[in-house]
Parts: sequence; C-alpha cells; structure tokens
Amino acid sequence: MEGIDLNTTMRKRKSSADIYPPIAKFPASCRFIEEKASLKSGTVNAAEIANYLKANGLLPDDPRLKSLFKKLMTADHEYRKDITPEIFAEMLSEVEFATLIERAFKGNLVVPDFKDFCNRLQILFNEVKANVSHTAGKNADYIPKLAQISPNYFGMSVCTIDGQRFQLGDANIEFSVQSCCKPLTYCFALEEHGEEKVHKHIGREPSGVAFNSICLNSKDRPHNPMINAGAIMACSLIKPKEPIYERFQYVNEQLSKMSGGLKWGFSNIVYQSEKMHADRNFCLGYMMQGKKAFPPGTNLHDTLDFYFQCCSLETDCNKLAIAGATLANMGECPTTGMKVLKSRTCRDSLSLMYSCGLYDYSGEWAFKVGIPAKSGVSGSIYAVIPDFGCISIYSPPLDSIGNSVRGVEFFTRLVDEFIFHNFDSLKPTGTRIRINPRLNKIASEREGKMAALNAAAEGDLMELLRLIRGGVSPAAYDYDRRTLLHLATCSGKVEMVKCLLKYPEVDVNAVDRWGGTGTV
Ligand code: GLN
Repeated sequence: MEGIDLNTTMRKRKSSADIYPPIAKFPASCRFIEEKASLKSGTVNAAEIANYLKANGLLPDDPRLKSLFKKLMTADHEYRKDITPEIFAEMLSEVEFATLIERAFKGNLVVPDFKDFCNRLQILFNEVKANVSHTAGKNADYIPKLAQISPNYFGMSVCTIDGQRFQLGDANIEFSVQSCCKPLTYCFALEEHGEEKVHKHIGREPSGVAFNSICLNSKDRPHNPMINAGAIMACSLIKPKEPIYERFQYVNEQLSKMSGGLKWGFSNIVYQSEKMHADRNFCLGYMMQGKKAFPPGTNLHDTLDFYFQCCSLETDCNKLAIAGATLANMGECPTTGMKVLKSRTCRDSLSLMYSCGLYDYSGEWAFKVGIPAKSGVSGSIYAVIPDFGCISIYSPPLDSIGNSVRGVEFFTRLVDEFIFHNFDSLKPTGTRIRINPRLNKIASEREGKMAALNAAAEGDLMELLRLIRGGVSPAAYDYDRRTLLHLATCSGKVEMVKCLLKYPEVDVNAVDRWGGTGTV
C-alpha cells in the first residue's frame, strides 16, 4: 500500500451522483443529451438534437414539432454552447407531443432504424428509375392536360403512423388526384351514413372489367366504390342536401385534415377537360338513374359535376402519403394527432382498396404485392400498410391497364425487399432474408439472445428451439462467455445438450471466463 493514501483517493473520487447525474429524473431524450455531452467535453448544440430528430424522419415542418424546432433554433441562438438536459427537459415540458420525442430517443418509433429504411428505399427507387424507362408506358391522353405532363417525373414519399417522413425525386410535383380520391370519398360517405346505407347503393365486389365500363352488378348497383360508377355514387352520398360548393369545400377540408393540414389544390384546366370528355361518366350516371340506384332526390348533374371536381383536386406524393398514413393509422392523422375518420371507416376502405384498387390488375396486385392500394390515371399509386404507414409513387406513364408502370414495378420490388405483403409471416421464413423495418435489428437480436440464454439456463428446450429457428445462433454466449451449451449442461438437461450438439457451429470445447467447457 506504499505511496497510496486510500483515504485521499476516496475523498478525491467523485461520488456516484457526480459521475452519473441523477438520470432518473430526466426522460430518455434528456439522457441522450447527457450521454452525448459526457462523450465530448460537455456540450450539445441545438443542431445536433434537430439532426437526430430529422434522421428519424421527424421533420421541422411537422405540425406537432414546429414549436420544438422553433425553440431549438432560438435555443441555438441563445445558448449557442450548451443545451443541458435541464434546458431540454424544460423545452419538452412545453411541447404537446413530448412523448413522441421520448419514443424517438428510446428508438421506439414504428421504424426504429429509419435511416436504414430510407437508404433501402433510395436504392429501390434508383433501380426502378434505371431499369424501367419512362417510355415503357404512356401518359393518359383522354384529356390533353395529362398527355402534356412530363413522363420523366418520378417521385416517392413515405409517411409512417408515427409521422416519420422521407421523400425522393419529384415528390413535391402536384398532379390531379383522379381515381386516387375514390377510397377517400368513399370514406366520407361512410362517415356520414354508415356501412349499411352506403352499401345499399354500392356493391363491394371486384368488377372484373375496366374502371369506366358501362355495367352494373346483378342488383343494378355499381360493383364497388373504386371504379367510376361507384365513386360517382359515393359522391352522391356526400352532404347531398348542401350546394356543390359546400360539398366540395367539405371534401377539400377533410382531405387537408387527413394530410396533416396541408392544402390540396384544384386544376380548373383538368376540371373543364373532364367535363368535356365525360360521355362515359354521363352514360354511367344516366344508367344508374334509370335503375333508381341513387338515393331519392339526387341531382344527377350536380353529382357528376362534384365527381369531376373531386377528380381535379391536386395533390403531391407527400400529401398523399400522409393521407394514406391516416388510413394506416386507423383514422388518426400521424402528423397532427387529429382523429379524422373512424377506425371502421378505414378498415372498410382498406378492404376494398385491397380487392379493387388497381383496376383490372387488382387480383394480380393482391396476389403479388398484397398491400391495399389505389392508382389513378395521373400516374400515382399509394399503398397503405396498416399499422405501419403509406408509400406513394408518382410517375405518369401508364401500362395498358392504366396503372403507373414505374409505380407497379416499385411496389413489386418493395415487397421483395421488405416484409410488407399482407400474408407475409413476420417470422423468418425461406432462405431469402427480407427486412422487417418495424424491428430494431440490434435490440431484437439482443433480446432473442437473452431469451435463448434464459431458456437454456431454465432447461426450456421447446422455447430454445423456437428461438434458434427464429435466428438466434446456437453458439450464442453471454457476458461471461458461457454458451447455451454451458448453461444447458449446468441445468442438467441431457436432451437439450444432445440437441445443441447437433448444430455444427456449437463448439464442445468452448471455454468460458473461468476456463470451463460446456460438457465438463
Ligand atoms: N377522371 C377520370 C374518369 O372519371 C378518373 C379515372 C381514373 O383515374 N381512373 O374517367
């Protein structure tokens, strides 16, 4: 002990409270600051916090976060050097959506590794751009305005149910919503009248014929709300007693609420052209009127006019992705937290998007892609993954059925990369490893390993085998380098030891921290 004065050493040492500030009093977001600050001489500036949120897809124009980003900016100015956990805690106490920030810092958003997810989307997007020429399809040309739009436009936007957003390419270019409005106007009709009344007037079977075909089902009703006849009928049900301008305003406002408060535009050129080239829609309207399919008192011309107006609304990939994410989030807009639609309404609309959303390709789409989606003649497709979010694509050239060529290709590749198909198992299956972006890869691997080590220690063979099937390595070991085999041996489970020894990666001679092997 010569030369060491234990007492002084003890006195000099900081108390544990000095070394580890009382973190329990701070939420995870503030601990992040604390940890970061301790790694690099005690300072964290506002930009670092803002960048962390942005990397998680929480953007400064998010209505929930505007005030926090503003505070960070002010803070950056005021406290240029430091944002202490205390300051951040104070900021958060004034922010309505503090729990969202908290989840972001804990890695608990629906896509925990958002950066990785976005990188993969970027690769898919680039591949489709490189491999599918814009000349592979043709713009819609039944009205001149759509024919004139650049076929080169290609945009993508994603919004998760936590409002994590990411965009690529021409995601800000406005286009007329056309048939992509149909699932939404159907929602508004449902909200107003309920399922029973709405489906007195509209069927819910795929039609098996083109979207503008002059035909009705065996009950003289439109087959479903995703084709023209059904969408015209849904329009007839929205605020039927109000003048058209009120009805239009209502739809416009609802769409804006579904899109996080972003306003949708309107193209008068498209609207006027729609009216001029509307023979088939008029034909459908008269046919339904002749069959007394409309609710009593319906004014056919007003209804058609209102339908043309809805088709001529303008949106972009970003707004469409948020609106779709509202459906994925069972009616609550992710970027505002506002409940816009009932859960049941979303379920109904998603069901029909799934079976009827892609024109005559709907069956093939449900089979191959397996995500509720809707396409429109402008070249947009948005796909809604329930409890996850929405991805929208814009690329005007269409295939012979009327779906965006690049859009279909993008989503086909998407489900090859990610576990998004409705009937994909969330458990790993097959040999091709596909990504489940809902999982925090590192955390889930760690949890799987811990569970396997516990199962081995407790001698729970069935649980251990299940975890190994799920991807845990049979050679997994703990902090003391004690392998599953060590633990199984200690728990005296001969059967488990025999099972483990069948795996080639299990090393019988693995040595733990104390020099013991599993079989000794
Ligand atoms: N305005 C178009 C029509 O009614 C909408 C069709 C579509 O996008 N499929 O014909």
